[in-house]
Formats: sequence, structure tokens, C-alpha cells
Amino acid sequence: MSNNLETLWNNCLTIIKEKADHLIFENFYEKCSIDSIEDGIVYILAHDEIVKAYLENDKDINIINEALLSVTESNFKAKIITEEDKKNKKSNNVVEQDELSIINNNLRKDYIFDNFVVGSSNQESFQAGISVSSSPGNLFNPLFIHGKSGLGKTHLVHSIGNRIIEQKPNMRVLYVSSEEFFNDYIKITKGNMSDTEWFNHKYRDIDVLIVDDIQFLSNKEKSNEMFFNVYNDLFSKNKQIIITSDVMPKELHGLEDRLVSRFTQGLSVSISPPGYETSIKILEKKLSYFNEDENTIITDKALEYIAKNFSKDVRDLEGALRRVIFYTINMTDSQEITMDIIYEAFKDYQSIKVDGDITNEKILKIVCNYYNLSKSQITSKSRQKLIVTPRQIAIYLTRSLLETPYEKIGKIYGNRDHSTIMSSYHKVKEQIDDNNSEYVLVINELTKLLKQ
Ligand code: ADP
Ligand code: MG
Repeated sequence: MSNNLETLWNNCLTIIKEKADHLIFENFYEKCSIDSIEDGIVYILAHDEIVKAYLENDKDINIINEALLSVTESNFKAKIITEEDKKNKKSNNVVEQDELSIINNNLRKDYIFDNFVVGSSNQESFQAGISVSSSPGNLFNPLFIHGKSGLGKTHLVHSIGNRIIEQKPNMRVLYVSSEEFFNDYIKITKGNMSDTEWFNHKYRDIDVLIVDDIQFLSNKEKSNEMFFNVYNDLFSKNKQIIITSDVMPKELHGLEDRLVSRFTQGLSVSISPPGYETSIKILEKKLSYFNEDENTIITDKALEYIAKNFSKDVRDLEGALRRVIFYTINMTDSQEITMDIIYEAFKDYQSIKVDGDITNEKILKIVCNYYNLSKSQITSKSRQKLIVTPRQIAIYLTRSLLETPYEKIGKIYGNRDHSTIMSSYHKVKEQIDDNNSEYVLVINELTKLLKQ
């Protein structure tokens, strides 16, 4: 990083530090640097794919963009890259130069149908997207997709754009956020002829226009009018228009009525929160994406926990998964995402606790209280039955409720080795499986106490 870029990034970090989670700041932002700045894009070099995957979401990108704006007072856009991307970029440079004269389509290569999980919550929008991709401009025009933030609208429209280009490489697709449209519009109001030409080329010499989050054009009268003109022009030429919004057309207040009424002429579809089954599928897909070498695995319980607690919003679902992967890789020696890591990773998330916030320590404490033993007694080397049974029960509870790895349980219970802990767990498990009423009773009672 050159001195200037380094200073710029350090200034940005000062601002980012105020907004970002402390842990995320230290482990992600602080480990990045600015690689280069080209065509208004600030290329942020991430340490590895995990850091990239973590920061590459609207929320974190916005934090960086805002920091860049306040440091430079210019509208730079951040893009996260890795060393690998840099290499690919160099080898693609020749093609990129050619493409520049055409105007970038802004499509994200990683948002494709193949990694868009379909369930009842998005089935209709997905089908509409597939139909439009196979015959743009003919079937459903415009295609209007609405749904709350974080449910996959942006992913879906990029997938449509990518599929169209894949099937019809000559088609010109343009994806813009409504903010980008607004900024481009502001540019041409300055009266520069070359800007107007460029604007017309960008928005009218195309086959497919995708405008994301149209609601941000609300109450921006003049740009609304310009959009109305662009829209009519494209529509009259049978060009495909795809629009997304966080509300359905009739709730789009602050947009011109004549524009809104056009949105309802084609097909309007919605996306709703994914629900449990689809959330599980999404988590599995994302895990294999974040974790290409497949070293990290997740237990069913942990997967269920995330799906149950975060399925209102796919962005949150993904954020939660990133958080636990991060914890697993950085805070533990294990590659397995278990319930004890989940509880640890979410201990500050008051609102989503289930089962009364059980931790390894809590089990130790409750079992000690229940049997009237001290912590040093239960973790001691003693083989007295009065101590051995409670110890085995505590070990059983830790493993069965939290899936804590045997090595880690061993460390908690007097530095015992893996096989000793495993055999303690199985001793109690056998009793439970045999329906030994004494054990069943104690385990039930203790579980109840733990969940309080
Ligand atoms: P929106 O535009 O509705 O706010 P996004 O398209 O930005 O939502 O989705 C938020 C995150 O969730 C993205 O990372 C996206 O890849 C992911 N996502 C949303 N829906 C799905 C899905 N059905 N399958 C896979 N990933 C999804
Ligand atoms: Mg979006």
C-alpha cells in the first residue's frame, strides 16, 4: 500500500471503528488494506476469502463507503478483493479495457440461480425470474419484485441478469440501484453534453434494465420524471424492465402515480421470509460456499438453532453463520460448529436466547449446587461414587446439550483425557437409553433447572 493509500485507509479505520463491532473491527477491517483506486472504485484487499466473505455484504460495504465519503468527500464505492482476485483481474485486463467503452453491467458474478435456494417463500419470484431470463421483454414486462430487506431480491435480480447474459451474450443488461440512477441523473443536470450522451447510452442502448430498491427514488421529483422517460422508451422498444422494492407498487408513496401504475402492468411478485426448512437449505448452501475446503462442519443442532433464530431475514441468517464460523476458526481449536460455540458466539444477543442460555460453566455450577459439591470437588481426581456420578452426569449434560468436544470437556473437568470423558458420557447415556428411572429423573430435573 502506498503511503497515501495507507493514510486514507487509516483515516477510514478511525471512522469505521466507531460503527463496527469491536471483534469484527479487529479481526476483519483492521486486517485489510487499500490495494488501489480505479474508476471511482476503491479496491480493499482482504487477507483471505473468509474476510472477504464476511465484509462483502451491504451493511459492511456501506460502513466502508460512508467512511470513504466522509474522509474524501467523494462518492467512492468499496469493493473487497483477495490476492487471488487481483491475479484474475490482471489476466482479464485486456477484456476489461474493451468493456469499459461499453459501460459495465454492474452484475455480481456470485449472485446466480445456482446458489439461490428456492422454497415456498420465494418460489413465485424465482419462477418469474426464470421465465423472464428465458424470454426477456416478452412475457412479464415489467417484472416487479417486492419484499422486505434481506430476503433475496438483489440476489434474484442479479441471477436473472447473469442468466440472460449467459444465454444471450449479445444482450446488454444493466443493473443499477436507484441511488446510482439518481446520481447519474444529477450528473446530467449539470448541463454537460457529453454526460447526457453517456447517460442516454447507458440507460437507453440496453436490452434489460434492472433497477434495485426503487423506493429510494421517492420524493425525488425530477429524477422520477427522468426515470419515467427512460422507462417508456425502453418499454416501447420491448426491452425488459425489472424493478425491486421493499413495498408493493400501490404502497410506493412519493413516486409519480403514472409511474407506479406502469409497474402494475406486468407481473408483480413477492418474496417473504424463508421459514425453517428453507433457512436450513440456505445455511447448508452458504456453509459450503464460505468453507470451500469443507473443513468446518456444523452439527444438526447448531444448524437448527441458527435457522430457528434468524429466519426472519436471509441477510441475518448469513450474518449469524459467518459469526459462528468466525468463532469456530478463531476462538477454538476445533473445526466443528457445536452448540457450545453457538452459545458463546451469541452470548450478547439478548433477544435470541433459547433454552435459557446454557453454557459449560452453567452446567458445572448447577450440577454442583444440585449435589451440594464444590467446583474443586467435582473436578478433582476423586473416585468416590458420591463425586464420580455427579461428574459423569455433568459431562453427559455438557455433551448432549452443548455438543462440547470431549477434549474441551476434559479440560473443564480436571484435565481428564478425551477417552475418559467419552466413557463417562456413554455410561450415563446407557442408563438413559435403558430408561433407568433414577438417571432419567435427575437428568430431567437438571435440564429443567438449566433452561430456567
Ligand atoms: P434484499 O435485496 O432483498 O435486501 P439480498 O438479495 O441482498 O436481499 O439478500 C441478502 C443476502 O441473503 C445475500 O447475501 C443473498 O445472497 C442471501 N440470500 C437471500 N435469499 C437467498 C436465497 N434464497 N438463497 C441463497 N441466498 C440468499
Ligand atoms: Mg437489495
